Amino acid sequence: MTAPPPPFAGIATFLRSPHVPRPECADVAILGVPFDASVSYRSGSRFGPRAIREQSLLLWGYNNALKVAPAEHLKIVDAGDVDVVPVDIVETHRRVAAEAAGWVGAGAAVVGLGGEHSISLPLLRACASKHGPVAVVHFDAHPDTWDYEYPGYPYSHGTPFIRAIEEKLIDTAAYVQIGIRGPTYGPSDYADALKLGCRMMTRDEVAERGIAATIAETRQLVGDRPVYITFDVDAVDPAFAPGTGTPEVGGFTSHEALQLLRGLAGLNLVGADVVEVAPAYDHAQITSILAANLVFEMLSLLAVR
Ligand code: MN
Ligand code: MN
Repeated sequence: MTAPPPPFAGIATFLRSPHVPRPECADVAILGVPFDASVSYRSGSRFGPRAIREQSLLLWGYNNALKVAPAEHLKIVDAGDVDVVPVDIVETHRRVAAEAAGWVGAGAAVVGLGGEHSISLPLLRACASKHGPVAVVHFDAHPDTWDYEYPGYPYSHGTPFIRAIEEKLIDTAAYVQIGIRGPTYGPSDYADALKLGCRMMTRDEVAERGIAATIAETRQLVGDRPVYITFDVDAVDPAFAPGTGTPEVGGFTSHEALQLLRGLAGLNLVGADVVEVAPAYDHAQITSILAANLVFEMLSLLAVR
């Protein structure tokens, strides 16, 4: 057996997958979206995809918890980054959806590397173009279902999921938010999210009921629907994920985040993303290492299915 190159050497594609810039037949396409123009506090997640790719080289390939080596079962390619337009969120979303749809059309599940959370909207557009409205498991400190974050402007990193529901990309009977917490403008922030039909499991509720009960209810709600997992890294506590734009204290540990994802093994995963990694606020790559591992767990979920 030839030893792989050490993690500190070579060019960093995700998991050293081949860089394939145009859609071709594949099982999974890793797609970077270096876009952070609509954030409400710290910018910098445009540097997320590159940081996550670099830390992915530390993943040795075999998932001992799920007993699977994703790359042995799946043809994984790194599609590179979408050609974003930093000053135009609508055009950027159009390009993300078009590029992702190309991969979906070629038979691949797209796993997006953010970038900020608005990019989930065009990724969901691409997913729904094939599967119809999908179940969504949404890890986040924030519901991201505000009608407007900037009055008069429908798109931002605080609004992707209300827009996705309006566009009928999400099956709201199977839309689960996990990890919601922190101060809001008022009680209506959560009430408005609930009115859209989502099942909001706050961080406090997960702490009270436990990880196993959280997983069980999520699996029951999703059933065998096609499901999209979106993971805003601020679902995890700033102690474990400081490198992000809108940190909220009291979040999950990195181990709880892994447990929650692994608990979804066997579901009909059709797309995913990890967003809001902002390396400039990171320390010792804590957050990008975590994000690379979260993507690895998602690839493992695709492989076990
Ligand atoms: Mn968030
Ligand atoms: Mn978010």
